[in-house]
Amino acid sequence: MKISSVKGFHDVLPGETARWTWIERQAREVGTRYGFTEIRIPIVERTELFSRSIGDTTDIVEKEMYSFADRDGSSLTLRPEGTASIVRAYVEHAMQQKEPVSKLFYLGPMFRRERPQKGRLRQFSQIGVEVIGRDDAAIDAEVLLLLHDLLTGLEIRSPQIELNSLGDATCRPPYRDALLAFGQAHRAALCENCSRRLERNPLRLLDCKNPECRAATTDAPVMLDHLCGPCRAHFDAVCTVLRREGVGYRLNPRMVRGLDYYVRTAFEVVAEGLGAQNAVGGGGRYDGLVKALGGPDIPGVGFALGVERLILSMADHAGAAPLLPEVFIAPLGAAAESEAMHLAHRWRRDGVRVEMTSGGKSLKSQMRLADKMSVQYVLILGEDELAGQALTVRDMAAKRDFARAIELSSSGNALRDALAQLAHHSVEQRA
Ligand code: AMP
Repeated sequence: MKISSVKGFHDVLPGETARWTWIERQAREVGTRYGFTEIRIPIVERTELFSRSIGDTTDIVEKEMYSFADRDGSSLTLRPEGTASIVRAYVEHAMQQKEPVSKLFYLGPMFRRERPQKGRLRQFSQIGVEVIGRDDAAIDAEVLLLLHDLLTGLEIRSPQIELNSLGDATCRPPYRDALLAFGQAHRAALCENCSRRLERNPLRLLDCKNPECRAATTDAPVMLDHLCGPCRAHFDAVCTVLRREGVGYRLNPRMVRGLDYYVRTAFEVVAEGLGAQNAVGGGGRYDGLVKALGGPDIPGVGFALGVERLILSMADHAGAAPLLPEVFIAPLGAAAESEAMHLAHRWRRDGVRVEMTSGGKSLKSQMRLADKMSVQYVLILGEDELAGQALTVRDMAAKRDFARAIELSSSGNALRDALAQLAHHSVEQRA
């Protein structure tokens, strides 16, 4: 019986991996330009890390975590996101003593037990950045500029940055009370989920997807109308930079992000091609998180993008095509086969992408194979070629043969030069 993969856990097949590595390379390049360095964090953490940081009343912690008891009874969890782990590592290694500001990026798999659908998996991959150690609006704006550059480089279709402020410890509590009062006054019209968690997490009222719930809360108070002076100034400063740099954004006062730790700047990116799951990424400022996880009172800001969703919303042509083999060596006979193996080894060491097969296959079947691999040049090595110490080249696209055009002693560079020459000049044709 065949064993299939687990629901929500997908293979990334050979035809797709070129795009993945291209995306990762873009992220590394853009991140490096903005002064970020990579950090690699473990996939498994103590469960407590996420309940304390993401928040007990969030969907992730309430119902989506892959948690399990280790053999010693401790509760472990497959990380559902990166920020908590980064901050844990930051505190554990006292990074603030080594550098005043840490600019970190990461990429890797995350795990959430959500209901799988298009763009929603149980194992998915994120690319994220975090800046720990700055609380000014300029760095929020810079993080958004980085995000914008990355989306542009990846050729995401119609990306739109949605921006909000979630206030801070001064203005959010009174706002929260106002929203709670609103929710209680309209309780009968709320969906079951919102009603149930209203007292514990009233902010979630605003991003509920239930249409009746949405209708009931169209007039709910929003944070942007209740910001204190410093939060207002911070938010305006972020917007000013974005406008000056020509980065489009849209205010979305109902966007609250799913996680408890955000303060002030919060944002999401929506794009085409995603259906109901229209966010490719999101992030924001998390000033209290380092302290909440046992570190000093140091602020942070960052975002995460989902790689699978990026791929869904990328332009069709974006992402490097897989690198095809440059040449296919087709030996005829045992002596030729061992010589072909030797040539392939030499040229591969010289950096050429070489394919060949073995087992005494006919020229016709080797040609078919080379054609399937979309190789442009087949190098034929038969008795004549062995005697003349030079390979015959078949240009597959032009359907032309060049008899004994490449010397067996050629280096990889000489091979490439000779092929380039053949592309320009016609040499005598093999009969
Ligand atoms: P979040 O940490 O929830 O803000 O998620 C950030 C980004 O990660 C989202 O915008 C998605 O692109 C991606 N993401 C989150 N959850 C999933 C999932 N279950 N499947 C695929 N991508 C996801």
